[in-house]
Amino acid sequence: MLEESLYYFNRAADVLGLSKSVRTVLQTPLRSVKVEVVTESDTGEILSHIGYRVQHNQARGPMKGGLRFHPTMDEDHAAALASLMTWKTAVVNVPFRGAKGRINCDPAELSVIELDAITRRFVEGIKDVIGPTIDIPAPDVNTTPQVMAWIMDEYSKYHGFSPAVVTGKPLDLFGSEGRDEATGRGVMIALEQTLADRGKGLEGITVALQGFGNVGSHAARLIAERGGKIVAVADHLGGVGRKDGLDVPALCTHAKANKSVAGFSSGDAFDGSEIITWDADVLIPAALEDVITSDNAGDVRAQIVVEAANGPTTPEAHEILEQRGVTVVPDILANAGGVTVSYFEWAQNIQQFSWDHERVVRELEKVMLKAYGDVRNVAKERKIDLRTAAFVLAVQRVGRAALSRRTLRNPPEFG
Ligand code: NAD
Repeated sequence: MLEESLYYFNRAADVLGLSKSVRTVLQTPLRSVKVEVVTESDTGEILSHIGYRVQHNQARGPMKGGLRFHPTMDEDHAAALASLMTWKTAVVNVPFRGAKGRINCDPAELSVIELDAITRRFVEGIKDVIGPTIDIPAPDVNTTPQVMAWIMDEYSKYHGFSPAVVTGKPLDLFGSEGRDEATGRGVMIALEQTLADRGKGLEGITVALQGFGNVGSHAARLIAERGGKIVAVADHLGGVGRKDGLDVPALCTHAKANKSVAGFSSGDAFDGSEIITWDADVLIPAALEDVITSDNAGDVRAQIVVEAANGPTTPEAHEILEQRGVTVVPDILANAGGVTVSYFEWAQNIQQFSWDHERVVRELEKVMLKAYGDVRNVAKERKIDLRTAAFVLAVQRVGRAALSRRTLRNPPEFG
């Protein structure tokens, strides 16, 4: 992940002709905090976990990024994900930069009481380096709205009532309408725009989807509502396909009840690993990193790949897809709907004012359309692919902001 984000950053930096020192300034994290989290288990044992918060850059506003419960994610991985958040927030032009955190625990082995205590001790350790104007955590792998509620509660003990310290909170505790579906909605909008550039609409377009969790299921529902045909879906337990389009609401009900799409009776079962090369107009990876690789990129049959997951395409695979004329809508654009509605949640919390669902959808649409248009224009003007264009745009925005806050003898140009 670190190599990949560096690779794409450097490609953009090459396009912009940035010097080595400017690259270093833009890539180096501002701060990395590591804390020991000591708690007691339900059986009275002392538990020790390590928590990290990597804060990448604060040039254009407070830092923003997920908090994971994960036994193995290391600091380098967290730093790479933090920098990706910097570029993603810049692409959609929301006033945040990137951060990422983790506590090295496995929630499957912990009770809710133990998780509550671990979260609170972690907040105690980082309470002076997070905050509504400093760094705003959000849910990520294995962390839920409940965990965000604990963070808000614990932080508020030290700093007073502070709903804006964290996003992804439950609706009853100052969460935002529309956050649940925001990433999937952004993916649908990005696809709709990509098709519009080709003079097409979603009607009749066939889509293969990997992952049917939060992002995948909402993207599928919204695409199907606009006439797209979800012809195949795969998750960790298997795949299900149907040439004339799956019944998405029925598949959502099945997946909710069975925690997988496997076993859905109104479709044909297949081995989930076949999804990447499925015969469809569009491929949406919405599950894992590194699933489109140099081994399978040559066999991808879709003409458009919309990266709903973070980092689903390796750099080698990206090159192969580009050479084959496949359009890749990059993750830092395609899945930025989530962080955009997190921004709306933060803004609502600061204003002490709640927006209704309709307003959230309207504002999200505005942000995604602008971001897509900006990236496409950079790609056209510079004759580069959408991913490089998204990074060029982000590096320009962050670089100009970071360096215009200082007085420099030889201010660098950002193209
Ligand atoms: P989720 O946990 O709700 O769903 C993950 C899905 O991936 C599940 O359907 C699961 O079965 C599937 N999956 C897991 N392992 C698989 C495998 N080996 N093969 C096929 N499918 C597999 O997660 P999510 O929130 O939907 O996130 C999905 C991706 O989108 C992740 O890469 C995440 O980082 C990214 N993302 C999520 C958000 C958000 O708002 N949730 C925002 C930006 C990016």
